[in-house]
Formats: sequence, C-alpha cells, structure tokens
Amino acid sequence: MNDTNTSAEAVPSMSGGGCGPKGRTILRDSSERTPGREYGADAEHSDDAGVVAGSLAEWWRESARDLPWRFGRTTPWGVLVSEVMSQQTQMSRVVPYWQAWMERWPDAAALADAPKADVITAWGRLGYPRRALRLQECARVVANDYHDDLPHTYDELTALPGIGDYTASAVMSFAYGERIAVIDTNIRRVLSRVFLGTESRGGAASPAERALANKVLPEDPVAGCRGFDRPSVMWNQSVMELGAVICTAKSPLCEQCPVSAECAFLANGRPGLGERRTRPRQRFQGTDRQVRGLVLNALRGLPEGRSAVGREDLERLWNDHIQLDRCIASLDDDGLIDMLPDGSVRLPG
Ligand code: SF4
Repeated sequence: MNDTNTSAEAVPSMSGGGCGPKGRTILRDSSERTPGREYGADAEHSDDAGVVAGSLAEWWRESARDLPWRFGRTTPWGVLVSEVMSQQTQMSRVVPYWQAWMERWPDAAALADAPKADVITAWGRLGYPRRALRLQECARVVANDYHDDLPHTYDELTALPGIGDYTASAVMSFAYGERIAVIDTNIRRVLSRVFLGTESRGGAASPAERALANKVLPEDPVAGCRGFDRPSVMWNQSVMELGAVICTAKSPLCEQCPVSAECAFLANGRPGLGERRTRPRQRFQGTDRQVRGLVLNALRGLPEGRSAVGREDLERLWNDHIQLDRCIASLDDDGLIDMLPDGSVRLPG
C-alpha cells in the first residue's frame, strides 16, 4: 500500500451556511500540504482541526453507514442501547439484534419488566452477556427513578448501572446534541495519528489525550442546528467512523482517507504502524469465554417446553470438565444461569 495518495483530485468545497464546519477543498495529494509545514512526532498539529473537521463533515455526509440509531431516528434510550451493544461488538453485527430488541422492548420500562431469561436469550451472540443484565439494571433505574425518561446530564448518566464515561458522553452527544468530547479507542487512534503523528498508547485515555480531544472538538452554533447536525456531534461521529472503516488499527486505508492531506502520521511515514494497539486481540478458541458461550447457547436453543440442560448434555459440550465447571460457576455468579441440585442448569427466571 502506498503511504501517500497520488490522485491529486480536488473535491469541490461544501456549500457555505448550514450547521456543518466551514467548507473547503480537499487536497487529495499529500504533496499539496501547507508549504513549509514541518511534521514531527513530538509536535501537535491541532491548528489543522478546522480543516480536518470540514473534510470529515463532507465525508460523513457522503459515506456514513446508514445505521438505524443514527440521524435522529431513535430515542435517547435507543441510542444508549446501541452504544451498550456496540461495546466490544462491531456495529454492523449489532444492527439485527438492536432492531429486534427495540421492537420487543422499545423503552426502559418495557425492558425493566422483561424476564431475565428472555433478556439473556435476546442478547444472542453479541458476546459478554453480562452487559445484557447490566442494561436491564440500568432500565430499572431509568423506569423507576426517572419516570422512563433517560437522564439528560453526564453525571446522572454515569451514575446509572453499567454506564461509564464513554457511553454517557456518546449519549450526551449523539442523543442530546450536547458539545462533549467522546473518547473511545477509534477516536483516540485517529486523533493521535492525525494531530500528533504517532500511534495512541494502550490503557486508559491519558490526560493529554483528553486535552487533545477537547481542544480539537468544534464549537457549535448557539441555535439553528438539529442535534445530530451540530458540528461537535458530526465530529464525534465522523472521527469514530473514520477509525472504524478507514483508519483501522493495523491496515489504515490512507489512499481513501479524507484527511490524508492533514495527517501527521502519514506525513511521518506511519512510524510503528499498529505497534501500540490498546489491547492485543484476545484469542477465543479454548477460552472460558468460549465455554461460557457454549453453555448459554445450549440454553437458548432448548426446544419449547424444556427449560434446563442436564449434566450429561453439559459434559458433551466441553471435554475439560474442570474448565466447564469453572465456567458454569462463573455464569451462576454473574446471574446469567441458575445451577440446579441435580447438576443441570437453566436460564434465570
Ligand atoms: S488518518 Fe489514518 S487513514 Fe487517514 S491518512 Fe492518517 S493514518 Fe491514514
């Protein structure tokens, strides 16, 4: 793959006005960067933020995936559900689960009243099924303490079960149109590459990364934009989208990237590409996660009229019975199954 884009194609600037960042012309050839600019790993190029925002807004309008929770088509609760489901699961895989879930439980009150077994079954193969139970706990608090109206402040959102900084920020931005920096792995990677010219570090977001995210976040006009059209909202969504589909961890598609002309990482020759991934991809085969998934899938697949999987059937799922028992015990600890005295298991009532 070439590190530079050589198409030298000039894309017409966005029309002025409206809610998006100011229009500009995208320079498709990285040789057209601002003359005299030095790109170094220790420098920060956040002065380019306005130009990057313009390019990204245009790209977002043309290329954003048409996911059902985007563009103001769902409730704040629907946005929250999509964000919880998308943690550790690709958005494209989430879509059918989200649609079925929202049809069945369109608001927090509906989910709060659902049988636990149905919630676990509906979570399907999204993975990390404890998230399903935490989401139901969250729904109960929203239904009981907030009259089924998802809270509107960051502090109230982060006080809900299972809702951390990322999800609260995403809801504040994507559902309520508030100006707030959303910081996830994709956004950290893109901002670090574009503005610092380096790979983002692993672990939790550092104060410097948070400062950069806040510094480059576009200002919003006081009035005149719908929430999801506001520059800060479009910025959060488009940077995240760029990290998901173009500026990926291992194989960024720089030749297709709308901000290649401003990217310090590309200008630096993409030093240490992929070296500082935030977390190595976990192998799945043979892990407790796999075994736990097998047990839950056996329960989800029970025919009508049967509610438990017997000990013999459980042992047929996995040869290592010590590992199997450890996983069954951990599922029980997590409230995802009930262990019965005869050694069988069932989904909780
Ligand atoms: S932002 Fe990512 S994909 Fe775009 S030019 Fe920079 S490294 Fe390449």
